[in-house]
Amino acid sequence: MSQAPTPITIARGDGIGPEIMDATLEILTAAGANIAPEEIVIGEAKYKEGVMTGIEDSAWDSLKKTKVFLKAPITTPMGGGFKSLNVTVRKTLSLYANVRPCVSYHPYVETKQPNMDLVIVRENEEDLYAGIEYQATQDAMVCLKVITKAGSERIIRYAFEYARANNRKKVTCMIKDNIMKMSDGMFYAIFQDIGKEYKDIEQERYIIDIGAARIASRPQDFDVIVTENLYGDVVSDIAAEVTGSVGLGGSSNIGAHCAMFEAIHGSAPDIAGKGIANPSGLLLGAVMMLVHIGQNDVAEKIHNAWLKTIEDGIHTGDIYKEGNDVSKERVNTDGFKKALIERLGQKPSKMAVIDYGAPKPGGLVLPAVSKLKHEKKELIGFDVHVESHDDNADTIAKKIKDKCSVAPLKIISNRGVKVWPNGDALTNVSGLYRCRFQSDKVISYDDVFKSVAQIAKVYDVTSTEMLCNYDGRKGFTLSQGE
Ligand code: NAD
Repeated sequence: MSQAPTPITIARGDGIGPEIMDATLEILTAAGANIAPEEIVIGEAKYKEGVMTGIEDSAWDSLKKTKVFLKAPITTPMGGGFKSLNVTVRKTLSLYANVRPCVSYHPYVETKQPNMDLVIVRENEEDLYAGIEYQATQDAMVCLKVITKAGSERIIRYAFEYARANNRKKVTCMIKDNIMKMSDGMFYAIFQDIGKEYKDIEQERYIIDIGAARIASRPQDFDVIVTENLYGDVVSDIAAEVTGSVGLGGSSNIGAHCAMFEAIHGSAPDIAGKGIANPSGLLLGAVMMLVHIGQNDVAEKIHNAWLKTIEDGIHTGDIYKEGNDVSKERVNTDGFKKALIERLGQKPSKMAVIDYGAPKPGGLVLPAVSKLKHEKKELIGFDVHVESHDDNADTIAKKIKDKCSVAPLKIISNRGVKVWPNGDALTNVSGLYRCRFQSDKVISYDDVFKSVAQIAKVYDVTSTEMLCNYDGRKGFTLSQGE
C-alpha cells in the first residue's frame, strides 16, 4: 500500500516569494515528492491588515499540526512596531538551530573560492534578537544581548551531532569573548565542555571578526561553524555570497518539535514580479525538508538534477556570466524550472553526485539539556543608570553618594568606561551614566529599591541591575579602567 502523503505547511511569502515557491512546488511534484501542502497566508498581506506580527492565530494551527514549514521569504516592514515574522516563527516554535550549508559550484558558478563546502549552524532564538530594546535617554538606545546556558548547550550539541551525522571533520566556534567575557565567554566554555564528548571531531575557536574575514578569504579552512545568532546571520550571508550568489543557499530551522525550511536570501523587492529570480535557495531548502521527512530518494533526485542543470550552464541572471564558457543559456525562473524538470533522474557528470543515504525521518534527536546546578545567589550591590545631559560625573557622584546607606558608590561609568573617580578629561561621554553601588556584604532588595527611589528624586533613573555573586563568583563584569 502506498504511504499517505506527508502534510506540510507552505507560505508563498512576499516579493519574489510566490514566483520561487511556485517553481519549487512544481519541481517537487514532478520529482514525485509525497507531500500534501497546506497553504497559510503570512507577511505583507497580514501586516497591511494591521496584524503587527504578520501571522494570524489560525496559521499557527496548521504549523503545529504539520510541524513542517516550507516558507518563501517575507518582507519585514521597517519601524512602526511591526515585528519580524521570521524571528517570531523561529522563536515561537523554538526552532533553535539555523543550518546553512554554503557550497561553491566551481567552475559552473563564478566564485573566487572554488573549494568551499561549509555549514553554518547559527543559534536562532537568543542574543540581540531577544527583542529587549529601549530608548534609555534622549540620545541612547539600548539593546540587550541574552545568552543562556541551555540555549548555548542546545546549539553547540546540535553542531557536533550534525558534524558526526554528516561525516564532517571539524567544528569551529566563533565568538567575541575577548570583549563579551560573560555571554560569549560562557558560550565558548560550553563549547569546550561539550567538545570533550566529541573527541573524534577536530575543534577550534575564532574571534568572530577574523573568523568572518577568513570565511571570505579562506573558506576551505572551515567545515562546520557554530556561532551565536547575530554573528551567524552576518557570516552566513558572507558565506552564501562568496559561493557566487546569495540566491543559491537553502537553510533549515530545526526545533525539537517543528522545522522550517527556507532560502537564505530575502524577498528581493528589486526584482519581484519580473519572473527572473533564482529559485535555487528555496528549492535547496525544500531538499533539506525532504531529507527531514525521510524522502531521501526524492531529495537526491532533485539535488542531482539541480547540479546537472547548473553544470549544463542553464543559469538565472544572478549567476549567468556573459562570455565565460560555462554559462550556456540565460534563463528566467520558469526556464530554470523547466530545465531542471527535464533533468530529473540525471546526475551531474563533473560535480560530486549527492547521496543522502538511508532515511532518518525527524532529523537528529538530541538529549535534554543539562539540569541547572543550584548556585547560591547573594545580592551585594546594584547598578543604577541615570540620565544627565548637564551634570558631569563628579557632580553626579556628589549628588547621589549618600542616597544609599547599605553600599558605597564604587564607580560611575559612561558607555562602559570609568568616568568617576578620576575620570579622564579626554573620554567622550553620553547622557547615560551607570552608577555602581557595591558592598562587601549581602544586602536586601528592599534596600536597593529604597536607594533607587532616593536617587530618582535627583536624576531620571533609566534602569537598574542587581549585582549578585553566584557561589561566591561575581556575576558581573568591571568597567574599562575600573
Ligand atoms: P535580499 O536577500 O532580499 O536581496 C539582496 C540582493 O540579492 C538583491 O539585489 C536581490 O535582488 C538579490 N537576490 C536575493 N535573492 C535572489 C534570488 N533568489 N535570485 C536573484 N537575486 C536574488 O535582501 P534585502 O534586500 O536586504 O531584503 C529584502 C527584504 O527581505 C527585507 O524586508 C528583509 O527583511 C527580508 N528578508 C527576509 C528573509 C526571510 O524571509 N527569511 C531573509 C532576509 C531578508
